[in-house]
Amino acid sequence: MSPATALPGLAVVGGGPAGLMAAETARASGLEVDLFEAKGSVGRKFLIAGKGGLNLTHAEPMPGFARRYGVREAEVAAWLRDFGADDLREWARGLGVDTYVGTSDRVFPLDRKAAPLLRGWVRRLKDQGVRFHVQHRWLGLDEDGALRFATPEGERAFRAGATVLALGGGSWPQLGSDGAWVPALQAQGVDVAPLVPSNCGFDIGWSAHFAQRHAGAPLKPVVAHWRDADGREHALQGECVATATGIEGSLIYALSVPLREAIARDGRARLWLDLVPGREAGRLRRDLARARNGRSLGEHLRRHAGVSGVKAALLREALDPSALADMDRVADALKRLPLVLRRPRPLEEAISSGGGVRLEALDESLMLAALPGVFCAGEMLDWEAPTGGYLLTACFASGRRAGLAAAQRLRRCG
Ligand SMILES: Cc1cc2nc3c(=O)[nH]c(=O)nc-3n(C[C@H](O)[C@H](O)[C@H](O)COP(=O)(O)OP(=O)(O)OC[C@H]3O[C@@H](n4cnc5c(N)ncnc54)[C@H](O)[C@@H]3O)c2cc1C
Repeated sequence: MSPATALPGLAVVGGGPAGLMAAETARASGLEVDLFEAKGSVGRKFLIAGKGGLNLTHAEPMPGFARRYGVREAEVAAWLRDFGADDLREWARGLGVDTYVGTSDRVFPLDRKAAPLLRGWVRRLKDQGVRFHVQHRWLGLDEDGALRFATPEGERAFRAGATVLALGGGSWPQLGSDGAWVPALQAQGVDVAPLVPSNCGFDIGWSAHFAQRHAGAPLKPVVAHWRDADGREHALQGECVATATGIEGSLIYALSVPLREAIARDGRARLWLDLVPGREAGRLRRDLARARNGRSLGEHLRRHAGVSGVKAALLREALDPSALADMDRVADALKRLPLVLRRPRPLEEAISSGGGVRLEALDESLMLAALPGVFCAGEMLDWEAPTGGYLLTACFASGRRAGLAAAQRLRRCG
């Protein structure tokens, strides 16, 4: 191993949006900044987010915006007070990327791409003097507190005045954030909640016939009904997709926290789908009670309920033949189709992760109590939020907070 190089300044580990924002903020305060990234280039997950149009943030006003962070509302709201959705849009404009408010108040770059934004940002950071070290995988800290990296040239140690870790969560590990940092931080006495899938699909276990014919079929619009831990019922309208093993899509992602928690608690989660939200229940019953005149069930459903394809197939999955012959039960099932969700899809497939460094392990400036001078930011922290731009917004905001606090500490401590 090469000897630790004594350099003043900040080390940022992880080149996602949180780490890049920490680097930018600290550099703007006049610090020397070295950014280390395990992969051969930075921002790979950010680029993949661009494939879906790059939903950068959301136009929902406060306090509704902050409520999206659930039990972490208060903590994330504090980060967002310093750098919220409008600041993020202004920041993007500073890189020559204008944004617009799209459907459901989601905010996107005009070209809906991540690559131009990332390219411009990295160029600006390099021009400002941030030093990039790719293919540097952080392994942990040595006995003297220096950062240990695996590099193509062997292991290297780096001593920094302060460090921001922005190592991401555990979803889509092929893009770099694989959660391998968890044991390294736990070994230092940092309290880390296990990484779990968030914004994920769920397994149901369809018949082979349904899976073969309807995997990938969209279900829209539908209304999902579910009960919280206290038995209170909630409803949310949106869109989802039948998969080979179950169900996924934005509506299901939005419910992934209560569904995942119900499975952990009860071994399964129940969900009821209104497959025909535009149709009033009594009217639907009357329409379906009309004489079939020899028409097949499929044709009857199509004519009198506007239901066909995957929605009709779901009915057949849920109801036995005697129930399918009873039009009142068919009508009731169309308005409230019961689904039993058995397990979340694996973390690797999820859009994001829950769990991570518990916020109680950090002070308000996001510095670890167990490791003074080491800050954490982004998805590696234990908060979660639905898709819709809320994820990236909190990553940027926490990166900025950590970068600023690290700079203040370095100035204070010399
Ligand atoms: C398919 C997909 C689409 C998404 N779309 C959106 C969207 O439209 N809007 C939205 O708000 N969110 C979206 N997200 C979520 C969003 O991309 C993430 O929440 C965000 O990128 C997390 O930022 P981060 O900086 O915390 O971590 P990451 O972006 O995961 O970056 C962490 C970085 O740290 C590096 N790293 C990890 N371990 C080490 C190590 N040991 N040593 C050195 N470097 C390491 C990784 O290689 C990576 O570059 C999407 C996610 C996915 C998977």
